[in-house]
Amino acid sequence: MLAPELIARKRDGGELSTEELDWFLCAFADGEVADFQMSAFLMAVVLRGMSPAELSVMTRTIVESGTRFDPGSGPPAVDKHSTGGVGDKVSLVLAPLLAEAGLRVPMMAGRGLSHTGGTVDKLESIPGFRTDLPIDEFRAIVRETGFAIIAQTPDIAPLDGRLYALRDVSGTVPSIPLIASSIVSKKLAEGIESLVLDVKYGSGAFMSSADDALELARTMVRLATEEGLCASAIVTAMDAPLGRMIGNALELREAVDCLQGGGPDDVRQLTLELGAELLRMSADEAPDSARSRLASILDSGAAVERFALGVARQGGDPRVIEDPDRLRVAPVQHLLTAERDGTVAAVDARALGVAAVELGAGRRRLGEPIDHTVGFELHHGPGDPVAADDPLITVHAASHEAADRILPTVESAIEVTSEAPAALPQLILARVTPEDC
Ligand code: URA
Repeated sequence: MLAPELIARKRDGGELSTEELDWFLCAFADGEVADFQMSAFLMAVVLRGMSPAELSVMTRTIVESGTRFDPGSGPPAVDKHSTGGVGDKVSLVLAPLLAEAGLRVPMMAGRGLSHTGGTVDKLESIPGFRTDLPIDEFRAIVRETGFAIIAQTPDIAPLDGRLYALRDVSGTVPSIPLIASSIVSKKLAEGIESLVLDVKYGSGAFMSSADDALELARTMVRLATEEGLCASAIVTAMDAPLGRMIGNALELREAVDCLQGGGPDDVRQLTLELGAELLRMSADEAPDSARSRLASILDSGAAVERFALGVARQGGDPRVIEDPDRLRVAPVQHLLTAERDGTVAAVDARALGVAAVELGAGRRRLGEPIDHTVGFELHHGPGDPVAADDPLITVHAASHEAADRILPTVESAIEVTSEAPAALPQLILARVTPEDC
């Protein structure tokens, strides 16, 4: 088979057979199809889409590029995955919380992708934390602490790791079949039984419209269900960042706040909603009682203790969880204040996500090192009243030059108006179950 012909067929809107697509993907995994050919193919998929048959071949080939993790016997193994947003630290809170609630969470998480952050990068701001555990150690930690969070390994869905890295730097992230196959394949390979998906829409998400997000949610729930998982999705707004912190160590700090029963309302609400959905699917628990049980675990301090235990087992320094002031901070903090009285009408998640990458919180090139300390701390969110000179946002930067370069973007990302905005978008737009697909 000839790679250029298959790429050209996809470019022209044609369909690849099971054998052709499987060959093309395996040839890429074996190094016979080059990165630039795969990038061209991915762009063709972004523009032309994939048939349901192609989508399931792509998903299965990614799963079969590695081994399936077997969590062994024990409480239900579950996971959550988000399609990517700005300031989204929910996985850091949810994994230990669900472990404390009696489930097991063998989580394989991602690094930052495009302007969105990644759970693995956030965890690596903890000194010593290892996200590259051998599978046996991963299994042992899940057995012992109820959860573990690792990066993509050469064992589990390695093909997704290579595609993901390429998509990150080739403008080929926002595509329903590429996102769906990437996420569902990884989750199938984790050996879990229930999966909840957080599908985001808005300026800071890969799907800007609610309709596209609903379609992505239905595609993933259908695909995951066909492949044998209990699955559901929650469609959530991502026009403004989630929570108040953007950037790896800053987000870790905010996650610890939530694990201690504090933190911003939106992070807590979304964590409880996703957790309740997993308890409904895996333990038949009624959503209202699941939500209040999870809330009381957060408030009791048990979830943060569980997190510290998991951090220590993965080689991280648990003292930074007990005392986040031990985390490294950026050398420069630049505070931006409100110019006049008014209301924060909007905070542009995408603009701040892109600006965070420019500060060094994410990657512009494949494999680039990142700076865990940089990012943004919002002092107010959409709908908050502010007076002139009130703090709006602190820029955490590696140098004064880096902060100065980014200031015009940051200033225009926060809109303060004299009139209060009519209505703010609801955080949770819809829930999608297999019956809705
Ligand atoms: N998260 C993933 O794991 N894959 C994607 O393609 C997008 C978000």
